[in-house]
Parts: sequence; structure tokens; C-alpha cells
Amino acid sequence: MVTLKNSSEIEKMKAAGEIAITALYKARELIKPGVTTFFLDEVIRKHIVASGAKPSFLGYGGFPASACISVNDKIIHGIPSREEILKEGDIVSIDVGACYKGFHGDCARTYGVGEISDNAKMLIDVTRESFFVGIKKAIVGNRMGDLGNAIYSYAEKFGYGVVEDYTGHGIGRALHEDPGVPNYGTAGRGIRFQEGMTLAVEPMINEGTKDFYILEDKWSVMTMDHKLSAHYENTIVVTGDEPVILTKV
Ligand code: MG
Repeated sequence: MVTLKNSSEIEKMKAAGEIAITALYKARELIKPGVTTFFLDEVIRKHIVASGAKPSFLGYGGFPASACISVNDKIIHGIPSREEILKEGDIVSIDVGACYKGFHGDCARTYGVGEISDNAKMLIDVTRESFFVGIKKAIVGNRMGDLGNAIYSYAEKFGYGVVEDYTGHGIGRALHEDPGVPNYGTAGRGIRFQEGMTLAVEPMINEGTKDFYILEDKWSVMTMDHKLSAHYENTIVVTGDEPVILTKV
């Protein structure tokens, strides 16, 4: 069931969103060769807790950390680890959720570690841009397929693989609510956008094939061809005009 949020609920989601993105930006400042993904997760958890919020992912379905941190060919759901040390040229996707006053905010970014290749930079830029191309369609009266189609068509032009088996989602009192927000679709199809719909829109774009497999840790989603993958996500609220980004400072 899709729930529409009123203005006081949206205010709480904005507060949750600010906490989540601020935690993510704190981690971004510390990314450099030699740092572990465990350390970045600690920084994120401490900021969320110090803000009076809860890390949305910690314990969700048994997930053991506050952030999902996915390096290079890991698409999503990477488990931060003391053994995982970032090195020059890596790209690192950080996905953060915070729950504040009963409402969630969810966001993700991919960053380079030190100097990265031009190919890696382009993948990160196209993934980010595909989000903005997509949300331009998330306007009252348009349909979900308009958004998915816009993201897919944009990323595909670069020869990239758009991940289909994992999607964005409605968000609010629950981290994952209806509707699903696929990064593909047919324009003019799908449910209609309504004012007050809150959605986590999150293109996951692969340098090569969209195919993936899951590691023995049961979480980490890897590209089948071990080429790079990037992720960009914000929580938005649908309005009569362009949507408002709630995971913003
Ligand atoms: Mg999400």
C-alpha cells in the first residue's frame, strides 16, 4: 500500500534525511588510501546516534552494520570490515539510512579513493546524472514507468548495464514501503505519482553487464564480470512540480 505523507511527516523525513546525508558526507571527508570500510561505518554510526537517530540498516534483516559500503565491483549491500582497506584508484559506494522520530531517510553516493581512472569518473558522473534525469519525471500525473525509462535510457546510451533486480522503493515509517521504484520501465506505464509520495530513487549502474551474483556472506551483490558499479540515491517527495530532495543539507 502506498502511503502519502502530510507536511508534518515530511518535515520529520527531512530531519532524518539530513542526518543520513550528513553522516555520509562525514565519511566522504575521511576517504583515502589505507582507511578501512569498518572505520567509515563507525563514523557514520556515531554521527547518526549523536543526532538522536537510529541507523536504519543496523539489524535490518540481520544486516550487521550501519552503512552498506561497496567497493569497486560490489554493487550494493557491502558489509564494512576491518580487513577491507581502501586503496588508491578504488571507488567506494556508501549507502546510509537514518530513522528519526519514526521516519527514515535513505541516500547513497559513490566516491573515488585518491586518483581514479577516467572510466571510473565517467561511471560515477553518469550514475549521478541518471538520478537527476529520472526524478524530473517524478511529478504528479506522470507514471512510475516514465521515471524508470528515463534512468535506463540515459545510462544505456553510455553502454552501461542498469541493475534491474534491485530497485528503489517507497520510504517513510518503514525503510522499504510500496511502491517499488525500478530503474527501468515503459513510459506511460505504472502507478501514477501523487503529491506526498516519498520515494528512495537509487540507480545502480554497472560499467559492464547488469548481471550479478551474491557472495557467501549472503549480502554483497557483485557484478558478474567484476567491472565497476556505482550507486546514487536520495529520498524525494513528489509534488506538483519537480520533486524535493529530503536527503540534503
Ligand atoms: Mg534505498
